[in-house]
Amino acid sequence: MTGQLAILGLGPGSPDLQTPQVSRALEEATDLVGYETYLARIAERPGQRRHASDNRNELLRARLALELAAEGCRVAVVSSGDPGVFAMASAVFEALEYGPSSWRTLQIEVMPGVSAMFAAAARLGAPLGHDFCAISLSDNLKPWAVVLARLVAAASAGFVIALYNAASRARPWQLAAALDVLRPILPAQTPVIFATAISRPEESVTFATLADVDPIQADMRTLVLIGSAATRLIERPHAAPFVYTPRSALEPS
Ligand code: SAH
Repeated sequence: MTGQLAILGLGPGSPDLQTPQVSRALEEATDLVGYETYLARIAERPGQRRHASDNRNELLRARLALELAAEGCRVAVVSSGDPGVFAMASAVFEALEYGPSSWRTLQIEVMPGVSAMFAAAARLGAPLGHDFCAISLSDNLKPWAVVLARLVAAASAGFVIALYNAASRARPWQLAAALDVLRPILPAQTPVIFATAISRPEESVTFATLADVDPIQADMRTLVLIGSAATRLIERPHAAPFVYTPRSALEPS
């Protein structure tokens, strides 16, 4: 019997935003592998084994998943959001590339999920309606100078920027430094939106501009959206504004 490995995304939090394909794979798995916080979101099933780990050992977790699949287990590796966006899918393929060649015969499937930037964008309106990019502010796996260079390039080129991993207790200063490099490039009124714990009970959204944003409001559950010069707000009475980026980058006539 050959083992199977599903690399899947749970979405941003709400069960409504988990795909039926992912729900099925979670039901059928003999073994779940993932960060303990994400495993805690999944209902316990009798007989199903859980291999919880802390957030750092991505490569070890990926190898464990491949080893279990090679033993014939049906393994689900879980990430939040989408597994391909700053998550486990790359770690599994890295382990596969450098691991025993027998692993390459395993049945491996990546199952997409709703990434935080899409859940946050949907809450706000259509901020990602034209060209955009996603940047992780974590400098655990890339030099900080590279992060800054990418921010400058993205803002200079007119991309809306979705910032993942904007802040955590271990990385408290990076977001303020990132906003500082953007200020000379983007208009002072550029919208900066903090979308925290989207689709979970503790969800919150705060609006600011590049001129008045307070980075202290971000934590490890926050997706920070930084508009382009074209991004606009539609104010509404007694309701949060809609945010959108027009489809066209042509100058209005
Ligand atoms: N694979 C995930 C991202 C993992 S990186 C995805 O596709 O969404 C972890 C970062 O994702 C967090 O620091 C935060 O920036 C963002 N994030 C994850 N869930 C979120 C949520 N419900 N609301 C807002 N941001 C979220």
